[in-house]
Amino acid sequence: MTDVVVVGGGVTGTSIAYHLARDGASVVLVDKAGIAEAPAATWASAGGLRSQGRHAPDRPLTLEAAARWPTLPDELDADLEVRLGGHLHVAETDREIAALEERVAADRAGGIAIELVSGDALRQLAPGLTPRALAGAYTAGDGQAHPARTARAFARAARRLGATIRTGSAATPVVAADRVQGVEVDGTRLPAGTVVLATGAWSVGGLAALGLALPLRWRGLQMLLSEVAAPALAPTVTAVGRNLSLKQSPTGQYMIGGRWFGRPAGEGPAAVPIDAHVARQWSSAAAILPALAGLRLAQSWAGVEAQTPDAMPYLGPAGPSGLYLALGFSNHGFQISPAVGLHVARDILAGPDPLLAPFAPDRAAGADPAATRAFLDEGILL
Ligand SMILES: Cc1cc2nc3c(=O)[nH]c(=O)nc-3n(C[C@H](O)[C@H](O)[C@H](O)COP(=O)(O)OP(=O)(O)OC[C@H]3O[C@@H](n4cnc5c(N)ncnc54)[C@H](O)[C@@H]3O)c2cc1C
Repeated sequence: MTDVVVVGGGVTGTSIAYHLARDGASVVLVDKAGIAEAPAATWASAGGLRSQGRHAPDRPLTLEAAARWPTLPDELDADLEVRLGGHLHVAETDREIAALEERVAADRAGGIAIELVSGDALRQLAPGLTPRALAGAYTAGDGQAHPARTARAFARAARRLGATIRTGSAATPVVAADRVQGVEVDGTRLPAGTVVLATGAWSVGGLAALGLALPLRWRGLQMLLSEVAAPALAPTVTAVGRNLSLKQSPTGQYMIGGRWFGRPAGEGPAAVPIDAHVARQWSSAAAILPALAGLRLAQSWAGVEAQTPDAMPYLGPAGPSGLYLALGFSNHGFQISPAVGLHVARDILAGPDPLLAPFAPDRAAGADPAATRAFLDEGILL
């Protein structure tokens, strides 16, 4: 019998499979499509490695991940396009500067190396920023990497360690006597001691089918890519007062994200960009980086992400014994993926890992029902 079946070949599932295999477990990873294929979140992701401004329970994971990203390409023997040009969260008003100061104080207390920059120091970090950018919270160790490459590299490394990677087949957990027996794939039973669901947006239907009533929704999130431009922006950028994530990728193209929803398309989780959002998303980015106004949009896309009411993932056992959830990463699961894989593997193989306690799925039972309903019903138009 296989020790662990991991369902889902995004960056979460592949990282978990790699770490389980590294710790000596027998592992099968199954994805209904390919590794990090459209419209999965890992395929669509902006690839920002941001350690600042996270929830307090995330900080140990984000710190551990930030320490690991510089050497992860060597560890996985792959080019992950890791670029550590720092991350800058900018303020355009005095009120927003107060928000920056709060972020810096909270992050510092949590062990994040962050500083407040303004004036010449800010211009040196990002010379092309609008003069309206008055100050920024800066984390020098942050940056970007390529999410799909990372997931594929985790999968290849897991395979080198003996894991089986099976793509093009959906897996359904098989439950009997309140215990997971394994999964069914292509009409065949695959027995396993533990089944990990790292099924991203598809978890919304998957959990319901298992009778698990955890609050979870999926949304399409859209990304824009500019034509190629000369290298000019080293840090990744977000802004206090805008839905914005902005970076210049290694190709020279600017990648623009933020919390811009796409429109659901088709039967299951899938989404397409909303034109009105594309225009506003682009102009919001150009307001921060004026050079964008002279560039053309080259591409837009939308991928699907599972979101929880408190924007923290569900990590841990839930429902029938032997079932383990690793889902609901709420738009920021890429940066922490190396640490999530490591700790989930430990949690499964060696017993409860205290770092994961705040992410236990049963925390949802204590949530305010009205707030949960409002979250589940929130529309997609901004
Ligand atoms: C547009 C966008 C931008 C983002 N930007 C950032 C960022 O800058 N920084 C950051 O840290 N995070 C970012 N994120 C979030 C991050 O990318 C995600 O949290 C992360 O990729 C989630 O990975 P996952 O493996 O959990 O899910 P996914 O990548 O969605 O993978 C789930 C997989 O499960 C498979 N699956 C589902 N059901 C089954 C089944 N029954 N059987 C077999 N396979 C199944 C699917 O085919 C899919 O491959 C962004 C997300 C989006 C959408």
